[in-house]
Amino acid sequence: MPNVETVQGAVEAQELGLTLVHEHVRFRDEAVAAEWPGRYDEQAELDAALEAVAAAKAKGVQTIVDPTAMFGGRDVRFMRRVAEETGVRIVACTGIYSYDYLPHYFENRDVDAMAEHFVADIQEGIQGTDIKAAFLKCAADAAGVTDHVEKIHRAVARASVRTGAPIMAHSMPAVGTGPRQVEIFQEEGVDLGRVQIAHCGDTDDVGYIEALIEKGVYVGLDRYGLEMYMPIAKRNATAAELLRRGHAERLMISQDYCATIDWFPPEAAEVFEANGAIRNWSMTLVFDEVVPALREQDAMDDATFDTVFVENPRRWLTA
Ligand SMILES: [Zn+2]
Repeated sequence: MPNVETVQGAVEAQELGLTLVHEHVRFRDEAVAAEWPGRYDEQAELDAALEAVAAAKAKGVQTIVDPTAMFGGRDVRFMRRVAEETGVRIVACTGIYSYDYLPHYFENRDVDAMAEHFVADIQEGIQGTDIKAAFLKCAADAAGVTDHVEKIHRAVARASVRTGAPIMAHSMPAVGTGPRQVEIFQEEGVDLGRVQIAHCGDTDDVGYIEALIEKGVYVGLDRYGLEMYMPIAKRNATAAELLRRGHAERLMISQDYCATIDWFPPEAAEVFEANGAIRNWSMTLVFDEVVPALREQDAMDDATFDTVFVENPRRWLTA
């Protein structure tokens, strides 16, 4: 079995165990945090991350894949501290999380130069540490696959081809970004069996999701609790239908939970709970509500659970 890089060092793939494939121990804008550090409470952020990860651990989770990239405030030292204090492995990434904006730094360098940065994170280490990235991250959202987004996708693809590292791509089904994202990876010669199109569960159009699966990629049903995009019951109906159609080996179930996120003022969380934009969003929701509901619908037995939460993340990370 090959090794997988984590923030605590390389582990045998076999050891990954029960895995949440898309969660963030902290999400914030690194530029704002660097310019106005006093606006952030590091201890509160750490406490929230430890609490969330410990709760997941109590459900049996042994590994968390954290796709926080550039512009999400990636900080592998923070991630390592959370991992060490909880005893849960955290898998880090490289890449750029942008819906369009690119710094002039990357605007004025070509795709291969950008890819070179990602390769260094995978082969040498991140942010001056010996912590290596295990996968690549990119994003397409409401603006679609803009020129800058395409450039990032091609750089991520080339880094994947050079290193063998898998890819996770944030997508937006509402504007149908998935097929074009897959097409770019294909044009660059990426093994589509190493690609995960995230946030497919934000649509209940099973045909759209199935068309992606037919290309050979994994699809993320990974935003449980974010009701503003799709309520839990509808997400479950989609998951159950995909499982019934025999796609267990292509599904990734997770919550995209952020232990803290700076996108909104702190009081917003209560408002979102109250107005139904989020519901029971946490690092345990899929075990508390989703798996029981899928079992109730005869869509998930023990073997399927193992496929989705153990084998799929491991296969995606290791080929
Ligand atoms: Zn995410």
